[in-house]
This record gives sequence, C-alpha cells and structure tokens, in this order.
Amino acid sequence: MFDTLTDSFKNAIGKIRFHDDEKALKKATAELKKSLLKADVHHKVVKDLISSVELETKKNGVGKDNFLKALQDKLTDILTIEGAPKGFTFASKPPTVVLMIGLQGSGKTTTTGKLAYFLKEQKKKKVLVVAADLQRLAAVEQLRQITSQIDVDLVADENAKPTEIVKRGLKKAEDELYDVVLIDTAGRLAIDDELMDELAEVKKVANPDELFYVADAMTGQDAVRTAQTFKDKIGITGVILTKFDGDSKGGVALGLTQQVGVPLRFIGAGEKMPDLEQFIPDRIVSRLMG
Ligand code: GDP
Repeated sequence: MFDTLTDSFKNAIGKIRFHDDEKALKKATAELKKSLLKADVHHKVVKDLISSVELETKKNGVGKDNFLKALQDKLTDILTIEGAPKGFTFASKPPTVVLMIGLQGSGKTTTTGKLAYFLKEQKKKKVLVVAADLQRLAAVEQLRQITSQIDVDLVADENAKPTEIVKRGLKKAEDELYDVVLIDTAGRLAIDDELMDELAEVKKVANPDELFYVADAMTGQDAVRTAQTFKDKIGITGVILTKFDGDSKGGVALGLTQQVGVPLRFIGAGEKMPDLEQFIPDRIVSRLMG
C-alpha cells in the first residue's frame, strides 16, 4: 500500500554512490528530496527530514550505512509522537469507547466496520457498534449490513437522537460487558458549525477514550487540514487514512503525524473488512527502507 513511496525510497537509495565525500551526500539528499516531494510529502516535512539526515550523516561520518541509519531514525521520529499510543490501545477499564468522526465520503462508516472486524478477529474482543450517524440515514442501514456480515452487535434506531442512541449503547456495553464500543457519528460534506455542535454534544455524552478522525488519503493535504480543524474544534487522539489502494502516493501518511501533532493509527486500503492495518511506525519504516 506504500508502493509509490517504497519505490521512490528504493530509487533514491539505489542511486547513492558514496565515496566518503560530502558531494556524494549532497547528491543523495537531492535524490531523496525529489522522491519525497514526488510522493506528495509536505515540503516543510521534507526540508526538516533532509536537513536532519544530512546533519546526522556528517556527524557520524559520511557513508552509506550512516546515511541509511540517519534516514531510518528520522523517519521513525517523524511518524512518532512521544508517549502517544500506537495502533489500537485499550482503556485500563473496559469498555474502551471510540468516537469515529470525519466528513461524508471519507470512509468513516466502512472503517467503523473494519475496526470492529479487526478487534473481533485479531484482538478477540467483544465489540459493540453504535449507529449515531443519523445525518445520513443510509449509514445506519450500511452498518446493519456490515455488522451482520462480520457478526458484531449493533445498536441502531433511526428515530432516536444521536445522544440518545449513544446513551443506549453505553448502557448496553456496561450491562453486557463489552470490551469496546465503536460509535459512528454524523459527517457532512464540509465542516460546519452544526456538525461541530452535534459532535461536541455526542462527545460529552460518550466521554470517549479515543477520537479517531477518518480521512481520505487521496485528498492529500486536505486530509491534513481537516484533521487539524477537527483537532482544534473537537479534539482527536488519532487519524485513520483510508483509500490507500487508490491513487494516493502515500506522502500524506509520512507528514501527517508531525503536521497535525496527532498519531496516524490505522491505514485503510480497500473496501473489504480485512483491508485495515495498524500503523506502527517502526514496522512501516522497515518496509519503506526495504
Ligand atoms: P462515510 O460517508 O464516511 O461513512 O463513507 P463510507 O464508509 O460510506 O465510504 C464511502 C465509500 O468509500 C464507499 O464506497 C466505501 O466502500 C469506500 N471506501 C471506504 N474505505 C475505502 C478504502 O480504504 N479503499 C477504497 N477503495 N474504498 C473505500
């Protein structure tokens, strides 16, 4: 799913011919810079990465090994936020309550299903999904189909208010000892006050452990900007980028964590339930470096 990015890294690394001089280092970093920009990594992130790799390599002695080590360390660094959770983490006392938020069409409802499937199949957890996206009524029906397909319980009622349905879901989770509650919330085509007010209300009632912002990776830097707005207005604890199987060049995944100051937690790459992967920086970097 990082094919473009991995290819450009391989290409850049392959072109490096070090003869222990700084001219070779300049050539290598220029190649790296070109490929990162081509993959749509934000220019500020590229600038920071290049200058850090250059500095570290010089400090430790110009050579291919030191260059690769500096690159690996810096990549891990820009994908990590000290002390922040990686992938999925559980609250100390169940249930772990997760609010799924995002704009319409980002893949929020599908991702709610994928996350439920991941938690059930890979983490062996008892998961409850709550359909609180009452803005787009088809989302409720979509969740009925998805949850019945993956055999996960659902709380849904087209006639209830979002906060009511959330309360019902939380009560059921307490009574029946669910491990995780995933709440699908309303989206809009664009950010507006009505949406933010509704989300703030739902957040107050749900008191979530996690707020995952779901964004379409194909929208590139727009995904970063909207994530920033949701962070400022509602508060988010993680980002899930979807549609990595499309034309996305992957660069947005590299810059987002640092740009928004919130870790990328999952990557979606397909319409099927298993098409979701935890974003664990060390693992991703190893894959990028080949
Ligand atoms: P919502 O409005 O944010 O709830 O969006 P949906 O979950 O309904 O998704 C919108 C469309 O994107 C649907 O056709 C999904 O099948 C599709 N979709 C969601 N995630 C992915 C993904 O990772 N890859 C691809 N190719 N399509 C996706």
